[in-house]
Amino acid sequence: MNRESKSLELVIESNKLVGKDLEIAIKVLNKQRISIDDAIYLYEHSELSYVGLLANYIREEKNGDFTYFNRNFHIEPTNICVFTCKFCSYSRLLKQADEGWVLSKEQMLDIIRSYKDKPVTEVHIVGGVHPKLTLEFFCDLFKSIKEISPNLHIKAFTAVEYEYMFRKAKVSVEEGLKIMMEAGLDSIPGGGAEIFDEVLRAEICGDKATTAQWLEIHETAHKLGLKSNCTMLYGHLESYAHRVDHMNRLRELQDKTGGFNTFIPLKFRNKDNEMSNVPETSVIEDLKNYAVARIFLDNFEHIKAYWPMIGRSTAQLSLSFGVDDIDGTIDDTTKIYSMAGSEEQNPQLTTQQLVELITNVGRHPIERGTLYDVVQDYKDYDFSKENNGQGFVELPILN
Ligand code: SF4
Repeated sequence: MNRESKSLELVIESNKLVGKDLEIAIKVLNKQRISIDDAIYLYEHSELSYVGLLANYIREEKNGDFTYFNRNFHIEPTNICVFTCKFCSYSRLLKQADEGWVLSKEQMLDIIRSYKDKPVTEVHIVGGVHPKLTLEFFCDLFKSIKEISPNLHIKAFTAVEYEYMFRKAKVSVEEGLKIMMEAGLDSIPGGGAEIFDEVLRAEICGDKATTAQWLEIHETAHKLGLKSNCTMLYGHLESYAHRVDHMNRLRELQDKTGGFNTFIPLKFRNKDNEMSNVPETSVIEDLKNYAVARIFLDNFEHIKAYWPMIGRSTAQLSLSFGVDDIDGTIDDTTKIYSMAGSEEQNPQLTTQQLVELITNVGRHPIERGTLYDVVQDYKDYDFSKENNGQGFVELPILN
């Protein structure tokens, strides 16, 4: 029995828990799935310390003290977008192109080349939905990336980007994904899910891929053997019932396919967008949200806190509220959250900094590949052996 299991039992035996709190704690201890009503109750009535205890119990049952990160960089091909999501601070319409950017294929390949001598394992490619960047263009890009770095994992494009790309190319979801996979696509990130409730989705991002389309693209990807991530945008106009409904649809799809690697709650940030009047959630709310997600999503192995979005300190705290993954080194290669007002305006951490961030709160840092294969165990790792001063470790170079 691990220490969390013991402490959960002690809390139950102490008779301090009553009613629904007790009922839920017994379910968690017995590894029974909690219901939609249970999850709404946890959000609405339970104390943060109690929800954290349950979430940490599950986190340690599933992953012990292991806390995962990866060494990655982002490419954002463009921030020009045909859609007009009200919460988006990042995109520009084609008619505002002078305020945005579009990278050429060569510029993106130069970024790939610049990482060739660094031991990164993943490139994460997402951006705006540009009307002129086609399926053909991106297939060609993927093939060229693989020529430069055959072992670099390409995690690319949200379901929203695919829905538009495939529609323009007049191919089905299955055909489109097969074409992308042949070109080099290795997995799919979780963005674009926002909130699944159809009425609310219509209100905040009504012109892009629907809930049904988002879920169909991920289900098809899983059937074709691709793993994917999933997200939820929270802290805007949604109710707790909306959040639980969203997670329930993900839990159902995961029951069907088992294809999701991790769930990533994304906090709404209110700078420079059409919803700037909506206040942001508190850190307490953020932690409770991670914890309820960890308790509700019993068929997910991992819950990720995206540190460029919530900042380093909250990311550290989240490791006691169900989170076991804090994403990657990033290397200042994304603008999505800095443009929305996040604490991290130039998100970049060396491997050593990431490792220290994890060990400073008593957890065990593990560098993972995109699919949670262990690349390096950093417990007791001696960084003084390194010779480039960048916090990069001398691992085999990918090429
Ligand atoms: S959230 Fe994505 S799809 Fe929506 S406007 Fe921004 S870049 Fe475009």
